[in-house]
Amino acid sequence: MKILVINCGSSSLKYQLIDMEDKKVLAKGLAERIGIEGGRVKYEAAGKDEIVIEEMLADHKAALKIVLDSLQHAEYGAVKSLDEIDAVGHRVVHGGEAFAESVIIDDEVMKAINDNVEIAPLHNPPNIIGIEACKEIMGDIPMVAVFDTAFHQTIPALNYIYALPYEYYEKYKVRRYGFHGTSHQYITGRAAEMLGKDLDDVNLITCHLGNGSSISAVVGGKCYDTTMGFTPLEGLAMGTRTGDMDPAIVPFIMDKENLSTEEMSNVMNKKSGVLGISGVSSDFRDLEEAAEKGNERAQLALDIFENRVRKFIGAYLTEMDHCDGIIFTAGVGENSISTRERVIDGLASLGIKIDRDKNDMRGKEAVISADDSSIPVLVIPTNEELKIAMETAKLV
Ligand code: AMP
Repeated sequence: MKILVINCGSSSLKYQLIDMEDKKVLAKGLAERIGIEGGRVKYEAAGKDEIVIEEMLADHKAALKIVLDSLQHAEYGAVKSLDEIDAVGHRVVHGGEAFAESVIIDDEVMKAINDNVEIAPLHNPPNIIGIEACKEIMGDIPMVAVFDTAFHQTIPALNYIYALPYEYYEKYKVRRYGFHGTSHQYITGRAAEMLGKDLDDVNLITCHLGNGSSISAVVGGKCYDTTMGFTPLEGLAMGTRTGDMDPAIVPFIMDKENLSTEEMSNVMNKKSGVLGISGVSSDFRDLEEAAEKGNERAQLALDIFENRVRKFIGAYLTEMDHCDGIIFTAGVGENSISTRERVIDGLASLGIKIDRDKNDMRGKEAVISADDSSIPVLVIPTNEELKIAMETAKLV
């Protein structure tokens, strides 16, 4: 079975064609700058050179058409015809309270995804456009929606209700949803396998540390708590997002700087986090380099980021009777040796210890804790596309 995985952003479309027999990626790439000047589609079939097609991409449908033509291309294609593709799996950011699992897309599902636009105005519209473009070009091929929020739907009310008047939950569905669910779920499954535990029996703290970052407490294989909330702004300090702060700061800064709600939202989402603190970059490689050269604010940004990771690990340990593993994933978690080392070194009072030699690697599945660590620490590269393909294959 061959599954096409589609992940649409407002001006981009990421894709992978995966053969589920051996989980091999047959082709992958990215269409960028959809609807604006400078459109291009990157395409790479397994074992072949990357191809870049530069042309104006009027909309997502135009981008998808180029992707599908490339996939069937006589010279660099990955399939002879589109008939070889059995199903399409779509990443959908917000499933709200309607979806605790992936679902086959039908009219009712589309209506529910549309209903969630109100609480995910930035994220769901491009996902809907991507689904509709596929439907138009690929006809009635089975399609599955895999939601970023679904894994977190098992979080109990004591962790999803905010201490606001309860009517805001009832009227507007203001509650914790959590994001990066596909990633947390994928590494939970892999961690259970690596630790030799039944999925229903495994307690983990999963740390997805990238440009956007979140940590989840997983109890009995199910999500019990997570740091992102009503939107992906809550929790850890991120590349450009604030994470937690006193909510009273929002009206205070809006008054002082005379900002509209949209401008304030932009500050909190795009100008804050480690970029805002350091004034250097949102990219952790740049920050590490600047800190090494003595830039104090870059060092402060890294210190703040790592300290929050530690604080949430500490907090989540209190939400489980024991922990089978602490897992690092995503760009920073998979690759930053120094971040992992400093986070775990700060947990020494809990008996959690890193093995510096084992930690001296990037982007591979590995146990990086010392043999006498009270809790194993693992690195597991995330693979959201494979997880979406697996969910799609399961349903069709
Ligand atoms: P993601 O959002 O998961 O793609 O992660 C992106 C982040 O990972 C960026 O901030 C990168 O700087 C960071 N990253 C990637 N490679 C490294 C590395 N070798 N060391 C530190 N950070 C890295």
